[in-house]
Amino acid sequence: MKSVQSTASLTVAKFGGTSVADFQAMLRCANIIKSNASNRLIVVSASAGVTNYLVRLSHKNVLVTEQKLIVDNIRAIQLNITQHLSIDVEVELNKEINSLLDELLQHALTQSLQYSTKTTDAILAFGEQLSSRIFAEVLQSIDVAGEYFNVKQVMKTNSLHGKAVVDIKQLSKQCEHLLVPKLKDKVIVTQGFIGQDSLGNTTTLGRGGSDYSAALLAEAVHGDNLSIWTDVVGIFTTDPRITEQARAIKEISFGEAAEMATFGAKILHPATLIPAMRCNIPVFVGSSKEPEMGGTQIKQKVASNPTYRSIALRREQTLVTVKSPAMLHASGFLAKVFSILAKHELSVDLITTSEISVALTFDNPSGSTQSLITNTVVAELEQLCDVSVEHGLSLVAVIGNGLTCTKGIGQSIFETINDVNIRLICHGASANNICFLVNESDANLVVEKLHNSLFS
Ligand code: ASP
Ligand code: MG
Repeated sequence: MKSVQSTASLTVAKFGGTSVADFQAMLRCANIIKSNASNRLIVVSASAGVTNYLVRLSHKNVLVTEQKLIVDNIRAIQLNITQHLSIDVEVELNKEINSLLDELLQHALTQSLQYSTKTTDAILAFGEQLSSRIFAEVLQSIDVAGEYFNVKQVMKTNSLHGKAVVDIKQLSKQCEHLLVPKLKDKVIVTQGFIGQDSLGNTTTLGRGGSDYSAALLAEAVHGDNLSIWTDVVGIFTTDPRITEQARAIKEISFGEAAEMATFGAKILHPATLIPAMRCNIPVFVGSSKEPEMGGTQIKQKVASNPTYRSIALRREQTLVTVKSPAMLHASGFLAKVFSILAKHELSVDLITTSEISVALTFDNPSGSTQSLITNTVVAELEQLCDVSVEHGLSLVAVIGNGLTCTKGIGQSIFETINDVNIRLICHGASANNICFLVNESDANLVVEKLHNSLFS
C-alpha cells in the first residue's frame, strides 16, 4: 500500500450522502482523493437515505417489526457497497457492520421503552459511523492508505442533543494532539455530523451538519483548502430544477455564499462558512460525479460583485405573528418575546414589526428531528399576546451586492411578480439580500420569473 507523499498543502475534503451512496459513487470519490495528494483529511456523510431511516428509527413508538425493517434497509444499502470489495475485506467488514447494526437495534429498543434526545443522537450517529468505516476500505482498495478516525475523539460539544454546539478550543487542542500528526503521511477518513459531550455521550450538529464539521476540522488542523463534494457542479444562480436558465457560479464571495446557504440553497449547511471566513480558508464546491466540470470557488475577494448574484428558495417556512395592544408605546415587549424563543432555542430568520405586532419566520422543514413551534411555545407566547401561526409559505431571497444602496431594486424585483401575493418583505439589514415570503404554490413561478428577468 502506498503511503501518501506529504505535500505542503492540506485540503479537507467532505463527501456528501449521494457521493457515498453506493460503491461506484465511493470509488469516484476515492479517485478524486487519489488524484490530489493534498486531500488528506476526508469527512463523510452517511450514505444517501440512511440518516432519513435513522430519523424514523429514533421516533417515539416505533414498533419492533418496523425497527427491524429499517435496520435491514440500512444493512442492504451498506452491504451493497461492501460486496464490491475483495472477499476477505468484505467478510471482515460485514462482521463489523452487522455488529454495529445490532448495537443500533439495541438503541432503538431503548428508545421505544424510554424516549430521549440522547438516544436519538446515539441512533443518528450510526449513518456516518458506517459510511466512514466502509469508505476507508474503498480507499485502500485503490491503494490509498486510508485510515479510519473516530471524530468523537476531537469533536467535543455541549450536551444540546440534536443541535450540539462545538467547543472550538477543545476541538483545536484535541486535533493538535490526535489528528494533525497523522495527516503528515496518511489519508484520514472521519465522520461529519457527530460529536461527543463531556459525559461521553454522542451528540449531533443538526441535519446537514457534515459540511459544518468539515469546515470546523479544516480550521482546527490549519487546512489550506476545504472542498465540499456533492452532486451538483457548484453553486447555481438558482435551483436548476426550477429553471433551466440557472447556471453555475464560478466565483462567489464568502458574504454572498453565506447568505445563500442561510436562505435555502441546500448546497451548503448554513454554518459552514463561519469557520472558513474566520480563517480565510477558500471553499470549493463541486460534483463528485463530474469532477472534471469544475465547480464554485468561495473566497474572500472575488473579481466581480454583481448587483444580482442568485436567488435562493426555502420552502416550509413557519410564520408566527404576535400581536399585543400593550406594545403601543411600550418597551420591553420584544425582549419578552425573544426570551421565550431563546429559552426554547428557537432561531428566528426574518422579522418585521409594526407598532403593535411582530412577524417572525422559522425554518422547520420536514425531515427535521424536532418540530419547532410546539404547543408549549405558543402557550407561553399567549401569556403575553395574541399568537397566530401560519404554514405553507416559502422564503425567496434575492442575493447580491449593494442591495441597500442601488436605485430601482424594488421595482426590478416586485414589478416582475406583481401578480402574486407577497406575505412579508425584509430589506435593509443586509446589503447582500432582499427576502420575502410567498405562498408555497407560487414559489417556483416567482423564482423562475425573477431569474429570467434579473439574470437574462
Ligand atoms: N447525515 C446527516 C444528514 O443527512 C448529516 C449530513 O449529511 O450532513 O443530515
Ligand atoms: Mg449536505
